[in-house]
Amino acid sequence: QLPPIDGDFYNLDLKLTDTQRNLQLRVRQFMEKEVRPIANDYWNKAKFPFGIIPKLGELNIAGIAYEGYGCAAMPFLMEGIIAQEIARVDVSISTFFGVHSGLAMGSIYLCGSEAQKQEWLPKMQKLKTIGAFGLTEPNVGSAVSQGMETTCRFDGEHWILNGQKKWIGNATFADVIVIWAKDIDSKQVKGFLVRKENPGFKAEKMEDKMALRIVQNALITLTDCKIPETDRLQKANSFADTAKVLKMTRAGVAWQAVGCARGAYESALKYTKKREQFSKPIASFQLVQNHLVEMLSNLTAMQTMVFRLSELQDEGILTDEHASLAKVFCSLRTRDVVSRAREVLGGNGILLEHDVARFVADAEAIYSYEGTKEINTLIVGRAITGYSAFV
Ligand code: FAD
Repeated sequence: QLPPIDGDFYNLDLKLTDTQRNLQLRVRQFMEKEVRPIANDYWNKAKFPFGIIPKLGELNIAGIAYEGYGCAAMPFLMEGIIAQEIARVDVSISTFFGVHSGLAMGSIYLCGSEAQKQEWLPKMQKLKTIGAFGLTEPNVGSAVSQGMETTCRFDGEHWILNGQKKWIGNATFADVIVIWAKDIDSKQVKGFLVRKENPGFKAEKMEDKMALRIVQNALITLTDCKIPETDRLQKANSFADTAKVLKMTRAGVAWQAVGCARGAYESALKYTKKREQFSKPIASFQLVQNHLVEMLSNLTAMQTMVFRLSELQDEGILTDEHASLAKVFCSLRTRDVVSRAREVLGGNGILLEHDVARFVADAEAIYSYEGTKEINTLIVGRAITGYSAFV
């Protein structure tokens, strides 16, 4: 039994083909059956539910928009729809999946040689091998394109990597971690496929997060980590290549924000219809309806925006600023939606039991990763004015 489709007010789902709609419903069913019942408990314990990985693999949705290597070559729209469906139930699982399928597989798909794609993508597509993506560092976040401190140097035989990466999702257990490092000689950023067993690679779990607690983020330390030339991403020759990956995944994060808002809105609507005060459902009060309608209008605006965003991607005309505008707008509006959802739940809004508290916390991570509000705003500002205001 599927839940009613409360959060698709303008019936955007009608725009999907039967095949796409069936896949969307399979993902929804999986999330309702396998993840909804366990999400709060794992979130509370800050543990990852490893048992779901093979079942998620059976859905055949990793790298869904890529061609070849076992991937389904579906439109990018489906990547967005899937991000929304997963995040609608749990944003952590959607982040785990986005890091693996978007950032890690995407780096190999866009920047890898044919041999690298053949080696990694088929097993990553089935989620038999898990990926991570290491760009951010302890001292450099927003300014990573300019101030990267992790270095690489070719010693004539191997590349030698030194430095630290912070916040790296999945990295405590990933089999392959894409590491970005600045070449001491050419001063250009290069990408490497670091295997978890590589000597000199260490990943320590980051503790005490107040958001996305299911995601296992790591502090990575690279100490004279030796990588063969065959594990250097052959088509990643400067930060412009890293940015190609980020443009694609930023669109996915906008969809993820929509999923988070949709999950919170649907939980709040259900709750307000059941909860009675003054002998009436609280949904019958005008002030509560105002919150619900504000949530729905934000959600609907976001959905129509990301739908067009994916069309731009499928038409091959997506720009960095298109992706940044959607990421800023959706992560900002999602914060408003989850806070109204929390409000109409009263005291229960801060209990995990009704899922809303988890969405409130997780919206904070969406707000900051894949470029903060300020950084994505500056990307759009530069595009529309012609002036760069970063420095
Ligand atoms: P800072 O760059 O220190 O920024 C702090 C504040 O200063 C922000 O408000 C920022 O907007 C503002 N600011 C900075 N520069 C300017 C400017 N020029 N003008 C105006 N304001 C400015 N990274 C990875 O590589 N891989 C991952 O898997 C990954 N997962 C993550 C998961 C989570 C839960 C989180 C929270 C982060 C993750 N990140 C990951 C890192 C994430 O991308 C960074 O947190 C983000 O880019 C911001 O960097 P920072 O946190 O260092 O903030």
